[in-house]
Amino acid sequence: MITIALSKGRIFEETLPLLKAAGITTPEDPETSRKLILPTNRADVRLIIVRASDVPTYVQYGAADLGVAGKDVLNEHGGVGLYQPLDLNIARCRMMVAVRNDFDYDSAVRQGARLRVATKYVQTARDHFAAKGVHVDLIKLYGSMELAPLVGLSDAIVDLVSSGGTLKANNLKAVEHIADISSRLVVNQAALKLKHAAIQPMLDAFARAVAK
Ligand code: ATP
Ligand code: MG
Repeated sequence: MITIALSKGRIFEETLPLLKAAGITTPEDPETSRKLILPTNRADVRLIIVRASDVPTYVQYGAADLGVAGKDVLNEHGGVGLYQPLDLNIARCRMMVAVRNDFDYDSAVRQGARLRVATKYVQTARDHFAAKGVHVDLIKLYGSMELAPLVGLSDAIVDLVSSGGTLKANNLKAVEHIADISSRLVVNQAALKLKHAAIQPMLDAFARAVAK
């Protein structure tokens, strides 16, 4: 059995065409089904539905053989035990630093003030500001980061931005680009060896589908 870990929402939707190109389809829709294990047209392949940030963990421990995870999530996880053979080029966005429209970020940084930064991406934020030599107090959040600067929880946020619409709607502005983000195929390193005959053709099919 090959188990593929996916998260609901954009990753599932954008992975479906790639699965289809690899000859894998599912009759279930995770948005309406309550099932967490979805069968596919192939008796030897199943999909499991997990939180986006849990995908690397399932694959790392071999509970899933493959998965699709955003680079944002992989950076936080660290990638231990994971082989990352392919950038699927889906769920593309940017990791950014954002502040309130009326906050003078450049001068705050120039003055060496300690910056309060709220984010779900604590590791990414720590690495980014350490590389710049900016001292920060990090505040871990689990969602709705845009709110933090508006109510005085933080000076800045580190968050994913695609269109910028949410920032704009909340009187925030992006002030720094940290990284381009897209989703990657991740594979359990042991499974790749033990189930090579089943997994390698899937990797090849994904690679061909992405290249198209
Ligand atoms: P959860 O809702 O379970 O806390 P999440 O909010 O991280 O998880 P999604 O919003 O579905 O889940 O995001 C899943 C992945 O999609 C992210 O890890 C990221 O790689 C990517 N992503 C997030 N926001 C965007 C966006 N605005 N545009 C494109 N891709 C995005
Ligand atoms: Mg979400």
